[in-house]
Amino acid sequence: MSNIKLFKNAHILNPQDTGVLDLLVAGQQIAALGEKLDIGNSNLPVEVIDASDCYLVPGFVDSLVHFIGGGGEGGFASRTPEMQLTHATLGGVTTAIGVLGTDATTRTLTNLLAKAHALESEGITTYCHTGSYQIPCRTLMGSITDDLILIDKFIGVGEIAISDFRSSQPTVEEIRKVAAAAKVGGILSGKAGVVSVHVGSGESLLQPLWQAVAGSELKLSQFYPTHMNRNEALFQAGIEFAKAGGVIDFTTSTTAYDLQHGEVAAAEALARALQAGVPTMNLTLSSDGNASLPIYNDNGELVGLEVGKVQSLYQVARQAVLEYKVPLTAAITAITAAPAAVLGLKHKGRVAAGMDADLVLLHKTDLTIRDVFAKGRQLVQNGQAIVKGTFEQ
Ligand code: ZN
Repeated sequence: MSNIKLFKNAHILNPQDTGVLDLLVAGQQIAALGEKLDIGNSNLPVEVIDASDCYLVPGFVDSLVHFIGGGGEGGFASRTPEMQLTHATLGGVTTAIGVLGTDATTRTLTNLLAKAHALESEGITTYCHTGSYQIPCRTLMGSITDDLILIDKFIGVGEIAISDFRSSQPTVEEIRKVAAAAKVGGILSGKAGVVSVHVGSGESLLQPLWQAVAGSELKLSQFYPTHMNRNEALFQAGIEFAKAGGVIDFTTSTTAYDLQHGEVAAAEALARALQAGVPTMNLTLSSDGNASLPIYNDNGELVGLEVGKVQSLYQVARQAVLEYKVPLTAAITAITAAPAAVLGLKHKGRVAAGMDADLVLLHKTDLTIRDVFAKGRQLVQNGQAIVKGTFEQ
């Protein structure tokens, strides 16, 4: 395999539809796009990849993954396992953002950071958020601001839990302080400084965020609430939030139990939000991969446990197109350009010269994944992982 790759006759969604073009990758970046790019009589070692009959789209950005595992709500034995490389790559995910969750005692930021570096070494791009569900936030350097400025991989804080019985029941003032620290850390480090917000099933919905913004210099757009398809009331609150300029996220991992108990399927949520007039760039999907998906009975007692899957990210985007008639470019935007923008990842989520060569080839016939490239390196070929994680051999 060569470091120089020429994709021929690719129908490129950048994620907007650019029509059929050729695309040249040099090293880890996209070098050029154009009609009938020709290597002529050059003896450069160029690998030519026939991409006719395929869409060429940006590698997928999964904005919320518990890649060191999560959970534990049913005791120690219910702690979920770590993600492996191919869990991401077989689903087209080339950028993953790792978070802690409910448990910031046995799950630590040092472990999260180490796993992020491990996945990066194995082939994909990773970032993390500092903090966890709780306020005050756990940090590595002593403050949110310091973590964002001093640790390259930390790009935001969260997921901070609100409207959830597992949250620290944060006050509006506490939420403001977290957002303010993330903002300053973001400004000084050139990062988004986003606050990822886990929203539970509590009746206060997004009220804590509206209250935090009211009468302060904070903006709705700094908060990035997830699980907004948890139930119909939260979905409606999310539409209002997104129409006011916020970006909302729908969770693609689910269980039959959740879908029977009021969850709006993420594919349906995306379709309905677009129909309601929310701009495409204000809607994202994330997998919540390797989260525990606890199943409770009516008394709030845990009766079962499943594990979130990173591969659900693209499965849901594809379902949105095939079953809910979402335009392909809109579904792809929700897992590429939109999350890259809210996270401030300037070299991710689009197909253009100078961007990282994170690319996915989709069969036009059924929209299944053919090939996946991350930073110019092919990790999946004809739907099979040709690069595996260290312990997947
Ligand atoms: Zn969450």
